[in-house]
Amino acid sequence: MNATGTAASGDELVFLPLGWSNEIGMNFNLYGFGPPHARKWIVVDLGVTFGDQTTPGVEIILPDPSFIEAHADDILGIVLTHAHEDHIGAVPWLWERLRAPLYATPFTAFLLREKLREADLLEEARITEVPLSGTIQLGPFELTLITLTHSIPEPNGLAIRTPLGTVLHTGDWKIDPDPLLGSPTDQTAIRKLGDEGVLAMVCDSTNVFVDGESGSESTVRIALAELISTLKGKVAAACFASNVARMDSIIRAAEANDRRVCLVGRSMIRMSAAARSVGLLTDIQPFVSDSDAAYFPADKILFLCTGSQGEPRAALARVADGAHPHLSLGQGDSCIFSSRVIPGNEIPIRNLQNKLADRGVRLFTERDHPGLHVSGHPCRDELKRMYQWARPQIAVPTHGERRHLLEHINLARDMQVPEQVAPRNGDMVRLAPGRAAIIDEVPAGRLYVDGGMVTPEHGEALRERRHAAYNGMLTVAVALDRKGRIASGPQVRALGLPGDADYELEEAIDDLASEAEAALKKLSADDRQDDERVEQALSRAVKKAAFRIWARRPVVETTVLRV
Ligand SMILES: [Zn+2]
Ligand SMILES: [Zn+2]
Repeated sequence: MNATGTAASGDELVFLPLGWSNEIGMNFNLYGFGPPHARKWIVVDLGVTFGDQTTPGVEIILPDPSFIEAHADDILGIVLTHAHEDHIGAVPWLWERLRAPLYATPFTAFLLREKLREADLLEEARITEVPLSGTIQLGPFELTLITLTHSIPEPNGLAIRTPLGTVLHTGDWKIDPDPLLGSPTDQTAIRKLGDEGVLAMVCDSTNVFVDGESGSESTVRIALAELISTLKGKVAAACFASNVARMDSIIRAAEANDRRVCLVGRSMIRMSAAARSVGLLTDIQPFVSDSDAAYFPADKILFLCTGSQGEPRAALARVADGAHPHLSLGQGDSCIFSSRVIPGNEIPIRNLQNKLADRGVRLFTERDHPGLHVSGHPCRDELKRMYQWARPQIAVPTHGERRHLLEHINLARDMQVPEQVAPRNGDMVRLAPGRAAIIDEVPAGRLYVDGGMVTPEHGEALRERRHAAYNGMLTVAVALDRKGRIASGPQVRALGLPGDADYELEEAIDDLASEAEAALKKLSADDRQDDERVEQALSRAVKKAAFRIWARRPVVETTVLRV
């Protein structure tokens, strides 16, 4: 028995991931307690992932909350472990559908408030700021924050105590003995929890294939300081804005070399404000505005930039294109990438670096200069230590693709963890009572933010857009008189379809128009009175001809006017 009461017969403790189990990004984890018909829920993290070439026009992807939305009244709270987008980014999009109180530590709460303010939800959504190592009581759940190290200020694990046992939800973590900002991983708290008994550990799998340790921010600080001291000309350094320790290292290296720092990019400015709100980045010289930076001699300035992943609208991409209003780089200048290549971003990063190199900018990346970056996630030796400290009965890998979760299962087995479960999104795992098992499958999926609207993953708009992007588009318009005779047209227009010297595009369009006309003439007088029949005939004829011409199936749009 403990502070959270005793379990009644029929009570169960379940874990239900609705995101970040078997795919990239989007942390969305639920814990449920009670009998199956009357469970109370807590939500841990509510993050986004980002679109790519396969989702043209869609930048933000959300987890589908339908299952828990139907139980919104039974959500006791939404607890956010840290401020990375894959953990908090979906709050402004999905909070209205869940409407539960939010809990976060001060740095995360600062950024969350900014997001809710932009979404016009700040008045409605209640955020409770929890101090580091603080406790939150939510019905049968008693949550205690555990300070960890990661790549952002205030990363927290959660000890979730329930009448049926304690879960250690790690969130994102690593073991950094010298994280520069904030305290090192609180191994005393984790060991103590292990002594009390950990029923299940739900744990980060990102680097499960990487041997050894992830390394310390303090070694990156040394590498950056050494490198920056050797550079002449202007220096630009790109890192994730959320990695405030990294920002701090770059700023100190700049100051040591008599360079002032100019922040370039909105998220750099937003993150530095969040950092200052919790007392970080305070004992440094004021930043130089980007318009003032232009007046500094080249060797007296350092630009701290967003855009290390080749994001097209970020500061660095605009510099590479020569399109930044205040910052230009050229011969004799340097650009440091203090970041890793996130899988999927290889091509945009390569393009960005080629453009910078073309301008004469010298590049320094992690690949050629190991030490300019360390990961924020645990490698195998760190995972092993965590298992030794926590000694869970059940290992539940999360935060990884399928292959990561399954390799994490192997590691847990090697570490003598008696039970292991690797759920997919939507798999409900019963942690207690009895052996851990997947007992149910609930709807889980993704939603796309498309043109500012939240749309289903397999929605018509994106399907059409993708189809048009690969195949082009044809429009056919015809005007018919009252008797169904052609008054004008058919007029064909093509978008995104090619012609060549042998067969010019105009010829192809004429060809399509005559096919459309022939099809129309084949229709009976009755059929020609029916718009739908006419559209169908036009569309079929044009599709067939398009396939003959281009061996491809463009989107075909038809319009019938009656005059
Ligand atoms: Zn993170
Ligand atoms: Zn994460």
